Amino acid sequence: MQSPSVTQRAKPPVPHIRCLSDPDLLNPEVQAPGKHKSNERLQLAHRALLVVEAPSSRNGRKIKHFLNSLRIDVKVVSKSKTFPPLSSKKSARYAVIVFENYNSYLKLDSWSRQLIDKYCRDYHVGIVGFIRPPREEGTHVSFVDGYQLTIQYKLELEDIKLNFDSYVWRVLKPGEVWKGFLPGKWAVFHSNHSTYQNLAYSRLSSHFLEFDASDDSYLHGFKYVTSVMDKGEIDGIPKILFGNDLNFWLHTVMMVDTLSYLSFGKLELSLDRYIQIDVDDIFVGKEGIRMTVDDVEALVATQDRLQKDVDGFQFNLGYSGGFYLSGNDDEDEGDKKLLEHRNKFRWFSHMWKHEQPHKFPDDYVENSMRLNKDFAKEHKISVYGQYTVAPHHSGVYPVHEPMYKLWKEVWGVKTTSTEEYPKLMPAWQRRGFIHSGVMVLPRQTCGLFTSTIFASDYQGGLQGLDTAIQGGETFQTVLTTPISIFMTHLSNYGNDRLALYMLESLVRFIKCWTNLRLLSLPPVELGFKYFEMFPQEKEPVWTNPCDYYRHKELWPVNKTCDRLPDFIVVGPQKTGTTALYSFLSRHSSVTSNKPSLKTFEEIQFFNSNNYYLGLDWYMDFFPQRKKPNDTILFEKSANYFDSEVVPRRVSALVPRAKIVVLLMNPAKRALSWYYHMRYHKDPTALNTSFHDIITAGEDAPSKVKRLQSRCLAPGLYAQHLVRWLDYFPAKQIHIVHSDELKNDPVSVMENLQKFLHVEPQINYARYLRYDPVKGFYCVVLDSGQTECLGKSKGHKYPPMDKASERHLRRYYKKHNTNLSKLLASFNSEVPEWLKQELKEVTPGKS
Ligand SMILES: [Zn+2]
Repeated sequence: MQSPSVTQRAKPPVPHIRCLSDPDLLNPEVQAPGKHKSNERLQLAHRALLVVEAPSSRNGRKIKHFLNSLRIDVKVVSKSKTFPPLSSKKSARYAVIVFENYNSYLKLDSWSRQLIDKYCRDYHVGIVGFIRPPREEGTHVSFVDGYQLTIQYKLELEDIKLNFDSYVWRVLKPGEVWKGFLPGKWAVFHSNHSTYQNLAYSRLSSHFLEFDASDDSYLHGFKYVTSVMDKGEIDGIPKILFGNDLNFWLHTVMMVDTLSYLSFGKLELSLDRYIQIDVDDIFVGKEGIRMTVDDVEALVATQDRLQKDVDGFQFNLGYSGGFYLSGNDDEDEGDKKLLEHRNKFRWFSHMWKHEQPHKFPDDYVENSMRLNKDFAKEHKISVYGQYTVAPHHSGVYPVHEPMYKLWKEVWGVKTTSTEEYPKLMPAWQRRGFIHSGVMVLPRQTCGLFTSTIFASDYQGGLQGLDTAIQGGETFQTVLTTPISIFMTHLSNYGNDRLALYMLESLVRFIKCWTNLRLLSLPPVELGFKYFEMFPQEKEPVWTNPCDYYRHKELWPVNKTCDRLPDFIVVGPQKTGTTALYSFLSRHSSVTSNKPSLKTFEEIQFFNSNNYYLGLDWYMDFFPQRKKPNDTILFEKSANYFDSEVVPRRVSALVPRAKIVVLLMNPAKRALSWYYHMRYHKDPTALNTSFHDIITAGEDAPSKVKRLQSRCLAPGLYAQHLVRWLDYFPAKQIHIVHSDELKNDPVSVMENLQKFLHVEPQINYARYLRYDPVKGFYCVVLDSGQTECLGKSKGHKYPPMDKASERHLRRYYKKHNTNLSKLLASFNSEVPEWLKQELKEVTPGKS
């Protein structure tokens, strides 16, 4: 039976982009790179300094986001503020300096101006400047003092073409002419000085002028210079100036080349762009939105054409076998046609009935995966099992552990992709990670969704789609992203076949305007490529699934997110953390984690490989709260304090958690740690004296040096606290002085309860009793008996020898001084030991 919708199908739009110049012609800079590369500038950091008009300035933010989307680190400073240090020792902190408003550079106070200019000359760093229209009414022309340059403002322009011969162009192919009105009011440049090279030309808008379009002088009237390079002949500083901001698409490509050129290649991007196109939901979709025989033939023909421009290109088809032959008659013929062409495509498994794994029991999910696998076997589809995609990002991030497990068991999955890590928006911040041996790559958006069936479904219609391709969002994604995985759906290949239109147009546009090399790889190889490019992304960063609505939707309903600590005792070791832990546990509203069998009682999640075991593993250590606010959960891991990665990871997962730090004289701590190691029969500690450990030099055995570092480094308190302050406000961090905890635990606990907002606040005088034999306070149980810490805690050892004492006083001197300054920000008194240390070193004699 024929469905009426079939005959009504209209002709799909046809890609219409043609290049003016030869798309295979490469720029000299690409054929023989030279001007963008120089070894002597390798000491530049991969970072830009951006000077904005005001912290809230919209253009400033736009420039920053663009630079960030190129993965360039940006330091933003307001024009009225003091500049940060530009260089350290022999290295330059910024590879380029960008002024949101070039005029702010010209008007810098002489001190700042000298600083910037000297820096630029010393390190051969260039300046990028955008011209903003002057505030004063009626200013139409200004002469830039000392620079032989005139700037004319507030022009309306149309069409733009590029200086074909400039060696600034590397990504940009300058043979095209951009037709149309240029957005906003423009500034243009005039100069006869040889330091200037014109980069782009435009002409006055036809609105602006009485003109005759057939007039030759109009057609050849590209005489307004909208962008210029100053080679630095006058002041020794190369600059590139733009007559308008980055809102004009071509300026983004010009900016990519500008950054690379002015930084001598330091901020250069590879010309290679890997593209993967997934066609998801194959066989999924109701009648009327599926593919017919013609659509399938068009898919095959387009793939053939794309293979000429995109090396190794192949569509990845994600199928859900459960919906095979569920369209109207014509669409069912389309399904069969797709199978006829099965070997032309790379197939991967979606889910049998498009189920979201996090919503179903594990055995159901397993069965669904197996049914889909059986379907492929029955229909002789050879599936690329190492890649898969979960319906609606289910289970990928936040991680649903059973899905990863089943992926590997059923399919041997090695890679997948998602838009949800760390968050959907902003798109340019999407990243990858590896979990449980599966490489998760970021996926980009191309504006086509399941519901984009006809051009009119696209925002702005076909014209809107063209804008996105011709310099707009989709083009920008490929420009800034070395590896783009685009997700499309079955419905984008039927009816108006918008995905085919989009892809062919995009590839042609990229070929007309850029020298980017479009490439494609099988997903696993692409995964290897990705983490080879961005090795720092291999490690995941876990966030709380309930802190972001999209993640919460992907979190199983039977799981809570609040089996996470409200506060963490972070150490360091040997400062009394175990005593504090036992005192806290005496409070009926305060509950700690279950003990870990692996690491004695501590979980050691944030500082070790346990972190890779994932969120479920961590949350299992905490009890389910009966009511949200009746229990305060905490954990204590004494190695957190001085670990490099911990503050960042803690703040990502529990940003509102309070942090408790214990401090004592670091010299005393070092000695106590040394005897702790001996107690635990560490062979190096048993065979080496304390003095030999702490004074070991560069040539000492590596075992001794390692022990020395573990002994002394945690005591560099100020350095570690500063790192915590990078991620937590000071008011969220509480400092307990170990000596006070030992001598007056009742008041320490009183202060701590206030800080933690524990309800009810209890008087610890009733719960702690001094044990004269042990020499410290023990917990009073309900039975009235006391419970003291075990044998290993608080054991006796000989006092420190004088030579070691002198050595450590010198060693910690600077750090202790820094600590005394830092304590004020925590509202913490300077403890007695620190006063003593500072007093004894101030005269400057050893
Ligand atoms: Zn899907």
